[in-house]
Amino acid sequence: MPNAELRESQIEMALAVADALAEPHPLVVEAGTGVGKSLAYLVPLALSKKPSVIVTATKALQDQLLNKEVPQVYAAGIPLRAAVLKGRLNYLCKKKLNDQASHPPLGITGDEVQLRKIASWAETTVAGERDELQFDPSPQVWSSLSMSADECPGADKCPFGDICFAERAKREATKADVVIVNAALYGAHLSTGRTLLPPHDQVVFDEAHELPDIMSRALGVEITVPRIRALAGLARPLSLPPSVPFLEALHRAGDDLEAALFARIGSGDVGVDPVTNEALVSLEEALVGLQRVLEDCAPLPGPLELDRLSVRGVVVHLRSDLSRFLAPTRGDLIFVEGQVRPALVCAPVEVGGLLQSLWSEVTPVLTSATIPDDLTYRLGLVDAVVLELPSPFDYASNSLLYVPTHLDDRRSSTSEEQIAHELATLINAAHGRTLALFTSRRALEEVGARVRKVVATPVLIQGEHSRAVLLDEFASNEQTSLFATMGFWQGVDIPGRTLSLLTIDRLPFGRPDDPMLQARRELAGSSAFATVDLPRTSMLLAQGVGRLIRNAQDRGVVCVFDTRLATAGYRKTLLKRLPPMSRSTSHDEVVKFLKKITSDS
Ligand code: SF4
Repeated sequence: MPNAELRESQIEMALAVADALAEPHPLVVEAGTGVGKSLAYLVPLALSKKPSVIVTATKALQDQLLNKEVPQVYAAGIPLRAAVLKGRLNYLCKKKLNDQASHPPLGITGDEVQLRKIASWAETTVAGERDELQFDPSPQVWSSLSMSADECPGADKCPFGDICFAERAKREATKADVVIVNAALYGAHLSTGRTLLPPHDQVVFDEAHELPDIMSRALGVEITVPRIRALAGLARPLSLPPSVPFLEALHRAGDDLEAALFARIGSGDVGVDPVTNEALVSLEEALVGLQRVLEDCAPLPGPLELDRLSVRGVVVHLRSDLSRFLAPTRGDLIFVEGQVRPALVCAPVEVGGLLQSLWSEVTPVLTSATIPDDLTYRLGLVDAVVLELPSPFDYASNSLLYVPTHLDDRRSSTSEEQIAHELATLINAAHGRTLALFTSRRALEEVGARVRKVVATPVLIQGEHSRAVLLDEFASNEQTSLFATMGFWQGVDIPGRTLSLLTIDRLPFGRPDDPMLQARRELAGSSAFATVDLPRTSMLLAQGVGRLIRNAQDRGVVCVFDTRLATAGYRKTLLKRLPPMSRSTSHDEVVKFLKKITSDS
């Protein structure tokens, strides 16, 4: 490969992956930052000549693999046909676009402008993917132009089936050696009886540290009131008189469910209480009646017939999800999530047992910069070969882990004022260049407001702009500092001197009332802290810390304001998961180090 550098750990990983694929066995690789794990699995996958799937954590990572790493494999003379496949809602639906053309305008000027822009883009786009758009369409606009899998009547029935973008992507995927999907789509593939992806012999899960939680949600279901109301909105234009009482019943069930869900917010209750159950039973009765009307009626004229099939698909899917709440299986947890638009969620607490049949058919390779201690257990991969490859970067010389032990306990009332003071001094020493991560919105706002008043360099605060704009401004202006919460703990990759100081306000322990964590704690009994809370916290802490050093030249400081990292009995478990940085509890030493690295650069 042009300009390639030799990395022993990358070769070691590639050989281990090749071995796992040739003599099929599960492999888990913890590949520290800088190992180059993408190429270390792409090359053996390409050489194996077996149909493969790569599962990434996000859609952005899917595109990055296809556009950056796959061409590098090609450039090395290794043929590799790769295709990206996303969920159907990510593609423009030509049927809906055609319907829109015959509908009156939405009546909202901004949305009308967006619709016109998308219609003109539709004439030239090859892939029809939402991410190609130069702007972010409003949810209302995009949902009027995209089709969920349960709503789509099927390419064989749709007059646009032959030129459908989602169907085209599926066809391309069947021709590829490697299909790149995101974890949500892979979960949907598993929960729908493995119907969404082409058959494959091996699967690589990148960023696998989150896999148990992602799979738990993907193998679960959720019901929201907007989902019920959207169904009523789809069914009404069919103008079927016998459906009217059932649509009215659907509305009433939606209203009752809304009241029941709002009443449960913050209660920490799990399961289905009598009031929620009553609303769900009414919902089921309305859906049964509506489905009967849709199935018993004579074919509808013109395009309405296709719409009837769409609505029927949505009803069947909603009833299937509803059955999980009305007759929950052992191991499923039911809880309410969200405050503004609460959802009733049913998800398996542990997924290892559910994945057993998958592991008997495909060879899994799991990799991440941080592999939690309990990952293989939680995924039911007890016989996996586990390989740990440290980062090739010189953390001891280039970075410092600082715990200001002179501060009060993080749980004390004076803590945030003290953090703001310490943080402002550090930002001044670093001339900005700071990513300050917080475990709560409240702490972010309080510390952010205080720091802003006393530092001379600009401070960006999450929520003031979109994530993309914040990251762009932070990366392009070295003097800027960015204050953000958990959404920025992972997946932020800002190499270079722009990020010289990374701070973490508190050890990221899970909330005591998190229903899923609480259920796992109950299953673990007296060892819950050691087997549930500590592995999760150490993984999140390592992910946060991992934002600092992104290449061999990077230098900087990680400051953790929570003194428990220097004093608690469990600190060694957390420190063991962090890169081998030099450590300090001296404010003066850290300020000197920051001044040195920022003046050197
Ligand atoms: S096949 Fe489905 S997604 Fe494709 S154009 Fe037709 S309705 Fe839309």
